[in-house]
Amino acid sequence: MRLAIVSDIHANLQALEAVLDDVSSVGCEGIWCLGDVVGYGADPEACVDLVRKRAAVCLAGNHDLGVLGELSIEGFSDPARLAAEWTAGVISSSAATFLRGLSPGAVEQAVAMFHGSPRDPVWEYVLSEEQARLALDASPRRVTLVGHSHVALAYGEDAGSSVAGGPRGAGDRLAVGSGRWLLNPGSVGQPRDGDPRAAWLELDLDSWHATFRRVAYDIHRAAGAIREAGLPEALAERLHHGQ
Ligand code: ZN
Repeated sequence: MRLAIVSDIHANLQALEAVLDDVSSVGCEGIWCLGDVVGYGADPEACVDLVRKRAAVCLAGNHDLGVLGELSIEGFSDPARLAAEWTAGVISSSAATFLRGLSPGAVEQAVAMFHGSPRDPVWEYVLSEEQARLALDASPRRVTLVGHSHVALAYGEDAGSSVAGGPRGAGDRLAVGSGRWLLNPGSVGQPRDGDPRAAWLELDLDSWHATFRRVAYDIHRAAGAIREAGLPEALAERLHHGQ
């Protein structure tokens, strides 16, 4: 089965629609979402609706939990806190009920997935080889998927059991059929790895290949929606830079 792994949609409807089109054109048979459906962007309701309809698995991210009031948003940056408060005021009770039913970690078949990491499913950012090694040691499965950092990444363990890896770009394809792997698809709605295009990961559970995908979307419209909603300008501007 070929799956589309998506994460950190952040209420960016234009990016999510572009990714879903790309997923269909590639012919993936299922979608798993690693959390942060809402927060930052201007279309939380439509994004929750699409994810609810299309994703077979969806995790809760720190922003989803912050919007629900299930996690304190005092540690959020000012723009993130303002966006969480705005989101809490505009989403329907049915969207909130869907988000409330999510958990920050799950195991499906041969794959474990977490919004942050196996050690801290909500908060830990895995951005170094050392953190990836600790995450792999704590994971219940050989292949582990994480989101949260908004950076497309792959860390693998070689025969000598040292863990190596780092950022991955569009079109990178890895054989992940042996050894332990930690993969981050990057962010659909707010990439922070310098490539402003929406990110997702194709994961083939039969041939065990992972392919990093990027797709262009209408950034001007997404940024315009953020401005129209009265959300902080920085949240609109950063989309153009992929930061
Ligand atoms: Zn996020």
